[in-house]
Amino acid sequence: MAKKPANAKSAARKNAPVKASANAGKAFFGTASMDFLERYLNNASPTGFESGGQRLWLDYIKPWVDSSFTDNYGTAVGVINPEAKYKVVIEAHADEISWFVHYITKDGFIYVRRNGGSDHMIAPSKRVNIHTDNGIVKAVFGWPAIHVRTPKNDPTPALDNIFLDCGCATKEEVEALGVHVGCVITYEDEFMVLNKNTFTGRALDNRMGGFMIAEVARMLKAEKVKLPFGLYIVNSVQEEVGLRGAEMIVERIRPNLALVTDVTHDTQTPLMNKIQSGDVACGQGPVLAYGPAVHNNVLKTVIAAATKAKLPFQRAAVSRATGTDTDAFAYGAAGVPSALISLPLRYMHTTVESVNKQDVENVVRLIAACLRSLKGNEDWRYIK
Ligand SMILES: [Zn+2]
Repeated sequence: MAKKPANAKSAARKNAPVKASANAGKAFFGTASMDFLERYLNNASPTGFESGGQRLWLDYIKPWVDSSFTDNYGTAVGVINPEAKYKVVIEAHADEISWFVHYITKDGFIYVRRNGGSDHMIAPSKRVNIHTDNGIVKAVFGWPAIHVRTPKNDPTPALDNIFLDCGCATKEEVEALGVHVGCVITYEDEFMVLNKNTFTGRALDNRMGGFMIAEVARMLKAEKVKLPFGLYIVNSVQEEVGLRGAEMIVERIRPNLALVTDVTHDTQTPLMNKIQSGDVACGQGPVLAYGPAVHNNVLKTVIAAATKAKLPFQRAAVSRATGTDTDAFAYGAAGVPSALISLPLRYMHTTVESVNKQDVENVVRLIAACLRSLKGNEDWRYIK
């Protein structure tokens, strides 16, 4: 999810309590799915530099699609029924927030710039990977020790005071490692599972989305579903800097419908404010957004599919914009009827982003249920 402007407000309300999933008891994500998820999350995919992750993703979905293509900036698309005239998109974004090397001091420290909404508050003491032509160069965000900080000199992390140390004493030494202005930097934190039910790691925003739309394709194939329309499974680049990949691909595909998935804030943890951010909980199911960009007729179809499939869901109200690729689809290609199906997530844009496994499964099931309910000739207009 892209960082919205500070004045963007939202409110949300919870729906009914969680119901058991249709196939409770049987593992929904098998070993191959979990192996892919771990590899996909652990691979860095900084905004503007997503190609490695996109290759992994394309290789994974290949068995379940008829064809695939990529665009100039790296958005990847798997297609089922490429000949069909009526086109439906399911979409997520592939990129992760990161930093750029911005300024190397003469004594070998590195100052950074944001690539997406990276959070300066969490930087001190983190280990990072600097991506260079020579491969990964390791570095750390340093910080003055607690012993030397005083009430008068107790800085708060900010973009202009966080810095990287890569073990070099001069700018020349840094450059000799292959590091130059413009190299991208990611955290090294990797995937882990908490209490068997919580996926935690870096950049679950929104690579859980890429995983979930791929799992929809897997599920459709496994259940031998014949769709009466073309399905475009889209993994867009550059969402974190303003929905750019989606803006590009919507013009290329010009779909009749788009179901977008991204993450949204769980608001149950300490220091969150429900009056400001709504009442959304991990474990309570996918979150359906209400807002001008969300097409009400599409939303009704999504809710009908959830109800029929006995899947739990929550509701959230957005203000001017959803802050997700939904906006790019809704307001692109002369207006594509769109809906947003979000995965609740804790600690967004930190290295310990966390989601509930059952929610992940239920987003996959809900998207698949929506697709199965379509005839492929829907006219979504409000006034006909
Ligand atoms: Zn984000």
